Amino acid sequence: MISNPVPWPDGARCAVAITLDMDADSLVHLAHPKDSISRMSAISMLRYGPEVAIPRILETHRRFGLRQTFFVPAWCIEHYPRAIEAMLAGGHEIAHHGYIHENPRDGTREEQHHWLKRGIEVIERATGGRPRGWRAPLYNFSDHSADLLIEEGFAYDASLMGDDIPYLLRTERGELIELPSHWGLDDWPPYVHSLDLDYVMQVMAPDRAIEGFEAEFEAMWEHGGLWVAVWHPFVSGRLARWRAVERLIGHMLAKGGVWFAPLEDIAAHVRRCIEDGSYQPRVDQLPYYREPISIAR
Ligand SMILES: [Zn+2]
Repeated sequence: MISNPVPWPDGARCAVAITLDMDADSLVHLAHPKDSISRMSAISMLRYGPEVAIPRILETHRRFGLRQTFFVPAWCIEHYPRAIEAMLAGGHEIAHHGYIHENPRDGTREEQHHWLKRGIEVIERATGGRPRGWRAPLYNFSDHSADLLIEEGFAYDASLMGDDIPYLLRTERGELIELPSHWGLDDWPPYVHSLDLDYVMQVMAPDRAIEGFEAEFEAMWEHGGLWVAVWHPFVSGRLARWRAVERLIGHMLAKGGVWFAPLEDIAAHVRRCIEDGSYQPRVDQLPYYREPISIAR
């Protein structure tokens, strides 16, 4: 069902990355700049991420011997240094996720570039190196994003949903590896219920949510795909949900043939396979359209 699967390391059947977007309370400040600081309940729900969930998640990764990727808005890096230090101590990747989770599509090209550069500076200060990857806040990859990422030397993007396996984004400026995921692997639809964030869903039981994520995994395992979970510490890191995640990780490891890796390692592997000719990725030429699509009769 996948015509050109990636040759994963050591003959693995699929690659798996549990990426965690540590948005913390950036979300409520962005949504309600005038009165966010009085929204104590929402702030407490979001601070659960860095304060309670991150230590729990890192302990799980340590126990299972996993290195993974955390996408963190730069504002959160500045405000939650302990969580960041703990991620780095565990050998995990910290990748770019905007400055304060701003929507790139709301800004001009220059504004988008400004926030991208500010985020890079903060990550460099915190980690000692430039970020290799980016995920657009709320998947808001704009028609300038690929060019700006290429200009700033990013190795990969993880915002788009165009395939089951890595592929290439090509623009007039160069190219970039896309490590895709999709809403079926995101924890907002099954779990998030917040009037302050204007996102009200019927909260699913953890076993039901995991059932969906696991079905995606089984298909990727069968067909050589890339399984990228887009989860959030304040959402999936809550007790019953994380307990269910631990069961899922245990199942994946017991099944075997699964390459757990941070996205930077997956991107580097894909790049090597492209260079040695063992992988021919699909290419998306961007932008998809140069002019608005006319629907006038
Ligand atoms: Zn986010």
